[in-house]
Amino acid sequence: MSTGNNKLTTSWGAPVGDNQNSMTAGQRGPTLLQDVHLLEKLAHFNRERVPERVVHAKGAGAHGYFEVTKDVSQYTKAAFLSEVGKQTPMFIRFSTVAGELGSADTVRDPRGFAVKFYTEEGNYDLVGNNTPVFFIRDAIKFPDFIHTQKRHPQTHLKNPNAVWDFWSLSPESLHQVTILMSDRGIPATYRHMHGFGSHTFKWVNAEGTAVWVKYHFKTEQGIRNLDVNLAAQLAGENPDYHTEDLFNAIAAGDFPAWTLYVQIMPEADADTYRFDPFDVTKVWSQKDYPLIEVGRMVLNRNPENYFAEVEQATFSPGSFVPGIEASPDKMLQGRLFAYSDAHRYRVGANHNQLPINRPVAEVNNHQRDGAMTPGNNGGSALYYEPNSFGGPKESPEYKAAPFTVSGQAASVAYDHNDHYTQPGDLYRLLSSEEQARLIRNIAAAMAPVEYEEIKLRQIGHFYKADPELGRGIADALGLSVPDEN
Ligand code: NDP
Repeated sequence: MSTGNNKLTTSWGAPVGDNQNSMTAGQRGPTLLQDVHLLEKLAHFNRERVPERVVHAKGAGAHGYFEVTKDVSQYTKAAFLSEVGKQTPMFIRFSTVAGELGSADTVRDPRGFAVKFYTEEGNYDLVGNNTPVFFIRDAIKFPDFIHTQKRHPQTHLKNPNAVWDFWSLSPESLHQVTILMSDRGIPATYRHMHGFGSHTFKWVNAEGTAVWVKYHFKTEQGIRNLDVNLAAQLAGENPDYHTEDLFNAIAAGDFPAWTLYVQIMPEADADTYRFDPFDVTKVWSQKDYPLIEVGRMVLNRNPENYFAEVEQATFSPGSFVPGIEASPDKMLQGRLFAYSDAHRYRVGANHNQLPINRPVAEVNNHQRDGAMTPGNNGGSALYYEPNSFGGPKESPEYKAAPFTVSGQAASVAYDHNDHYTQPGDLYRLLSSEEQARLIRNIAAAMAPVEYEEIKLRQIGHFYKADPELGRGIADALGLSVPDEN
């Protein structure tokens, strides 16, 4: 257990004489203000927590590597994807979304799937979920949506009225709601689920040609889900079940792996595809854009320290590297701001300098100072540009690929509003047992809603996706499908 120097010290490095008894004025006298070791110990303890994430608070992380298995250099110039066999170190954080830091793992919720690749051209973060779509498609609705997943302002209880009110008034959520209520809404472990970049991104090759891209991490462990009764039991008996499973598997040398595939869409297809390819509530059919293998991610090392590596890990969908860029997806556009902003608030302006977030690529810029600046803060180097003294300069060859925009600046909705075909397709690809469980899960989740109007509005959406689905839920709730009255 011993690790060399065993002398206990204060935070300023001086040896501690007594760590068991505070200094008092005599045997029964009050504690002395001059016991600075005691003061420092209590004061630091009060400051041990950083604010938990507003969403994705409960999580587990692991280190690993990504290895390229197929040549995709015709689509992207990203250096870490440039040749077959190339390995890049990475870190992943899995999470639930709505619950607090100590909440149970085995709840029905999407799972965060946030990957940081430490590439030679800077960190590339792919901050996705275990689902290919999301509940909303414009970031302006995100705070409202999350408020429906959080607690009632008066009772501090979860609020099914709000959940289903919002979803039934936001039919673009239907696809994600259907996936969430299916068996895959409660994965057996973090190892037995897929991961998705969810948004559409842009890949640009060495010639400057752009394509649209979607990412799919397929689990090599196979999809496994939890039975709802077992999940409820585990939520009480072992609320950290998924966290424990991931740690123990890696500690035992049973390294989980995922194969990364992409779907590639030629740039021009975005104008004619039957769904808006930038709408994150929709998938691109794999019949239209088949999966193309890219590589393999293997998790082979547990964090040494949870707080330093998992709690302080900060991911941003805006951390791109050359060859990977944003798309006009309105949800992505909002996240490009919101994630880094959350980390500046939660961890601090210098969060990217912490060991878990620090790029392996050399960071050379003119940012200085700020709370908790580690390192030598750029030393004596000048911190402005342009300068005549040899400071770092921009490299025009890394400018983002230019693209054309047109139209009026305005608050505009997406053109495409078919929110029913894709959830219906999902329902129809399920086995009859999976369909029956989906209906049961939805009915169980909607049963506590106190307003019939909300239930009927939502049943109407499920009915439009597939009449059998809508009728099944209505029957289970003792209601009629509104259209059939
Ligand atoms: P495909 O038949 O080509 O693909 C079906 C997809 O559905 C596969 O990725 C499959 O993943 C996944 N899937 C199978 N069972 C379930 C389930 N119980 N819950 C969630 N996903 C499941 O058809 P399309 O590409 O045309 O998609 C049809 C529907 O499948 C879509 O409307 C969408 O709801 C759903 N889907 C589509 C995805 C896509 O990227 N196109 C991705 C995931 C779901 P697996 O191989 O692991 O079984």
